[in-house]
Amino acid sequence: MTAKTLLLALPLALAPCGAARAAAADLAEAGVAAEKITPPPGTLMAGYYFDRAASGVHDDLFAKAIVIQSGGVRAALVACDLIGVPRECVEAARRAIEAATGIPGAHVMISATHAHTGPVVRSPAGARRASGGGKESATAFAEALPGLIAAGAAAACANLAPARISAARGFEDSLSFNRRFHMKDGTVGWNPGRLNPNILRPAGPIDPDVPVVHFASAQGAPLAMYVNFAMHLDTVGGLEISADYPYTLGKLLGGLKPGMLTVFTQGAAGDINHIDVAWGTQTHGHVEAARIGTVLAGAVTRTFPHLAAVSAGPLQCRSRLVALPLPEIAAEAPERARAIIARRGLAENPPAFLELVEAYKVIDVAERGGKPLEAEVQVITLGDTLAWVGLPGEIFVELGLAIKRSSPFAQTMVVELANGSIGYVPTRHAWPQGNYEVASARCGPGSGEMLCEAASCLLREAHAAAVRAAPR
Ligand SMILES: [Zn+2]
Repeated sequence: MTAKTLLLALPLALAPCGAARAAAADLAEAGVAAEKITPPPGTLMAGYYFDRAASGVHDDLFAKAIVIQSGGVRAALVACDLIGVPRECVEAARRAIEAATGIPGAHVMISATHAHTGPVVRSPAGARRASGGGKESATAFAEALPGLIAAGAAAACANLAPARISAARGFEDSLSFNRRFHMKDGTVGWNPGRLNPNILRPAGPIDPDVPVVHFASAQGAPLAMYVNFAMHLDTVGGLEISADYPYTLGKLLGGLKPGMLTVFTQGAAGDINHIDVAWGTQTHGHVEAARIGTVLAGAVTRTFPHLAAVSAGPLQCRSRLVALPLPEIAAEAPERARAIIARRGLAENPPAFLELVEAYKVIDVAERGGKPLEAEVQVITLGDTLAWVGLPGEIFVELGLAIKRSSPFAQTMVVELANGSIGYVPTRHAWPQGNYEVASARCGPGSGEMLCEAASCLLREAHAAAVRAAPR
């Protein structure tokens, strides 16, 4: 694909007086707000397999909310600068939002950007489990989070006013890389290292799509830019709290459109990160995060001339709970896993990384006692043009691409780590290849395809209903 920007093909209104129809009555309403969720210094930080406490704040973390209203229906899109939002927090936040605003919980999509330089978020139930994280700061944050998310959504709801919504799809293929590689020895490597001579080729694709949705007031003042892109947020590292590259993205876009809030959501990026194995001197840290945010801001900026008005149409919210199979574990595996975890951090004979990853998975899976993992697939659509698909967990990119391909909507945004965090969701064909994401996955082979199937089904239903509702 060579096109720098893919124009959004807007379906034309077929009404005889189409132009007149697209008047003020056609405007949806939107409200935008951001609630600061930065935890205090000393908070246990997420992202890696070792404990580290935050030393300070490079940039603040937020729960950013966009509330949309059309035809009397309201929905909220909330994006949190966090590694993930546990299901219990999502449910508590939805209850609080419903109580404060009347927006039904099922109409609320709460997602995490997957920032690796934010707090550990461990629900009280999660803290009781064996896989670490029972630290006080992690549960304290999880207890405060639903209220903060609800405050953001309620503030956005209070700001509801007629809005001009427009959309476009940007393109950026220089930032993201599939981090799984076919190696010369026949294995599939995971982050095999820069300039590794044993790399044959990437084991999967990337998704260069940068779908954006712009919200402006009826007078045209910019309110928010919704940006979705599939690439792990793990470019900063270190001990300072940071939202990672979306921080620079928001700062630059806010400079171009003063007063505008940038709401970044993570695409299907389970196997996608920023590491260019062919670039021997690629740096990391805040400078690299700023470079990435700058390039992505460029991709978004290039969509400005192509932002096409989205006519209001029906706002629809659909969800389906999918019972995902568990990965198989041997009967003696939990005992072995506990022994491995007990050796964690030892100076002598500490467990290997993949051993530890697998051990945590085994304990979590064994504790379910065979109970399938419940996953919510959520689809929010506006008219017959825009679709947001929320999937819990870190979704392999091919699954996201498959959903977009099957979607009848002009612009479909796949949002991972939405409404829960079930861990990695590999494709079926990645299972026999093994390595990190597969070793870590709490759901079994075929789970990703089940989520795709459910999403495609909901998208088809929503599109058929939108077409039926369109004026003829
Ligand atoms: Zn991850």
